[in-house]
Amino acid sequence: MSSLLLGIDFGGTKNAVALAKHGVAEWLDYRRQISSPTADAQSDINTVLELSHDLLSSHSGALLAIGVSFGGPVDFENGTVRCSYHRPGWSDFPLQEHLQNEFDVPVSIDNDANAGAIGEWYFGAGSNCNSLLYITVSTGIGGGWILNGNPYRGANSMAGEIGHIIVKPNGPKCACGKTGCLEALACGPAISRQAVARIEAESGSGEILRHLCRGNPGRLTAEMVSQAANNGDELAQNVLLEAASYLGLGIGQALTLMNPERVVLGGGVIKAGKTYWAEVRRAASEHSPPGIYVDIVPAHYTDEAPLWGAIALANHLLSSQE
Ligand SMILES: [Zn+2]
Repeated sequence: MSSLLLGIDFGGTKNAVALAKHGVAEWLDYRRQISSPTADAQSDINTVLELSHDLLSSHSGALLAIGVSFGGPVDFENGTVRCSYHRPGWSDFPLQEHLQNEFDVPVSIDNDANAGAIGEWYFGAGSNCNSLLYITVSTGIGGGWILNGNPYRGANSMAGEIGHIIVKPNGPKCACGKTGCLEALACGPAISRQAVARIEAESGSGEILRHLCRGNPGRLTAEMVSQAANNGDELAQNVLLEAASYLGLGIGQALTLMNPERVVLGGGVIKAGKTYWAEVRRAASEHSPPGIYVDIVPAHYTDEAPLWGAIALANHLLSSQE
């Protein structure tokens, strides 16, 4: 009989579950459901339980463990969700205990960036690494560490928050309340905000970008900026390069402190093109001392990174119990 692991992703816009065989980087089956705008903690949990039981009843085998990726801060030691930025009802929720009671197997829960790091370390672009920094750049910027062959979460489960390193004192306001954080200068929405500001200030430039958003800068996305940059739009190229420089600066700080073997970049940024990547690598090198060498590589998993992270968490939970 197969030994099964269940991975659960409580994401910002959807909930998803996947079933995998223990130790195999391939899932047997998965289910997902887009969240309704009125969803709360209880409805998210009900959805996930329904999807999970449906999945488990469709496959024979013994469930060994569950890994959970949560799109928000998690207290790893206590197995509780601190809060959700997307939905009500999650504050201090004992999710680990709740799922252990429901399924009667060990459960490990972590935030999506740490789960992403563990997923890449187990199955993806960070496999065989003794130390790595995983960074995901999408609507926000998150990060997670593997150090000395183990996930490192810090004293308050807050390690790896590279999105909130200050890279421009007195810079733009960040969602966290501070100013000049990396996230406020280099995440997807920051890239589109910057492009809009420049289009409005520099008439006559950004022709390709203006065409892509059909003359309405309010419709601009970071993807359009990448696309315009790759098609030779100078304004878009400058916006993207500036974001890449800030990301490289943030990475340089992390390299200086921790000297990891590899940096894995995930999220929508993977599609930003060669010039963007070259600038991230150049700026990271410029802002770290001589003698530090690191590979900065694209993540293996993009869209389903949290779910793979959840499966890897379940794997790690079992191997740390052996
Ligand atoms: Zn911040």
